[in-house]
Amino acid sequence: MARANDSDVLVVGGGVIGLACAHYLAKAGRTVRLIEQDRIGAGASHGNCGLVVVSYLLPLCAPGIVRKEIFGMLRRTAPLYVKPVLDLDLMRWLLKFAAMCRESHVRLALRARQSILSSSDLLFQELFREHALEAEYERRGALIVCRTEKAMRAYDAKNESLRPFGQAAEPLIGKALRELEPALREDVYGAWYHRTDSHLRPERLLQSWNQALIRAGVTIEEHCRLERFDPAGDRITAALTNRGAFVAREVVLAAGAWSAPVAAQLKLRLPLQPAKGYSITMARPAVCPQIPCSFSERRVVATPWPSGYRLGGTMEFSGFATPPDPRRFAALTSAAAAYLKEPVGRPVVEEWTGLRPMTCDDLPLIGAVPGFRNLWIATGHGMLGIATAPATGKLVQEMICGETPHIDPAPFRVRQL
Ligand SMILES: Cc1cc2nc3c(=O)[nH]c(=O)nc-3n(C[C@H](O)[C@H](O)[C@H](O)COP(=O)(O)OP(=O)(O)OC[C@H]3O[C@@H](n4cnc5c(N)ncnc54)[C@H](O)[C@@H]3O)c2cc1C
Repeated sequence: MARANDSDVLVVGGGVIGLACAHYLAKAGRTVRLIEQDRIGAGASHGNCGLVVVSYLLPLCAPGIVRKEIFGMLRRTAPLYVKPVLDLDLMRWLLKFAAMCRESHVRLALRARQSILSSSDLLFQELFREHALEAEYERRGALIVCRTEKAMRAYDAKNESLRPFGQAAEPLIGKALRELEPALREDVYGAWYHRTDSHLRPERLLQSWNQALIRAGVTIEEHCRLERFDPAGDRITAALTNRGAFVAREVVLAAGAWSAPVAAQLKLRLPLQPAKGYSITMARPAVCPQIPCSFSERRVVATPWPSGYRLGGTMEFSGFATPPDPRRFAALTSAAAAYLKEPVGRPVVEEWTGLRPMTCDDLPLIGAVPGFRNLWIATGHGMLGIATAPATGKLVQEMICGETPHIDPAPFRVRQL
């Protein structure tokens, strides 16, 4: 007979990835318990930019990026910042990242990212159709905005690599751009328009998906922290938490950036680093963009919703404990001021930082953990955790239920550093 603390599946982590796994497993008839150390959606899934960018196929590890970024990386206000500390795991991660910056990996990543992004795009549409999820989900496309002709041309080659996947953007210059997005400044040179991208308000998605899961019978335990797994041979026999031991036939580790320290207890070295991003959420400015804008030269995103407006971006490799740097919040608004007529809305509702779970090949880790028969991992979604959550959840469910996976899982298999 099942005990109160038993379930078919235990999901560790209440971010968008954990919720997606719980959703598809419950839909397949499994009893699911999800534990979250804080509140649901308290991690990276809260204050991110909410772009469901089906066009974002290119990985961060591109040929030439290390050479181009290496000096900037040590500048505290650079969009990509690496804190100069003696951290052996970070050093190893950076070396492996540098080794992945090659054409052959870009080709593999393009295909893999396309499969998980387009599947998620379709699954999101199904989710919003079938469940009353309230997340201000809209398909308005997204603009890569360039202040200069040079930046516009620099995106051209990237854009061509998206064409075979049907994701090439349309260039818009001058009047055509300003008619489409009147919030942009007159001196902005142009933009690339990815028509099929969507966006949503992530914290609302998490809130409303959580409610839908509770209605579907998933047991959600907030303020329940996994302290350690209890392994015996090739099985996890229990998950020991601050609220007692939980027993499940299958365990899914979906703890975002924190998955690495948890997995390290099992002597697994996941190729994961926390990459801090910053965002500022505000009321909509009077002249608010209608389409999400990614400011190409500054790597800052502006996302508008009916209920508000957010600037977000920057990537800081500085471990788990470093406090937010106020200069980086200021860098978001100064970046937006270079592109938008009205870059800031009042009042400011929230200044936030979150830790992206970044892998060194910019592909997520989804699948069985080598050496264990009942432990699965779903993490490492980097800059695309919202955009790739539904297909991740579905893939995890298919693997656990022994079904044929709907996308090729090979590029996402669990790798180690
Ligand atoms: C500034 C910024 C902008 C971004 N913009 C976008 C975007 O536009 N589109 C997009 O797709 N992605 C975007 N991302 C990335 C996206 O936010 C992440 O990829 C995604 O949220 C990762 O989800 P997750 O569920 O893996 O991790 P998280 O949301 O971090 O969830 C992991 C959860 O596990 C919990 N946990 C950790 N350890 C334990 C434990 N021991 N026991 C119990 N629970 C535990 C944590 O508390 C946390 O809630 C952005 C990120 C940032 C920072």
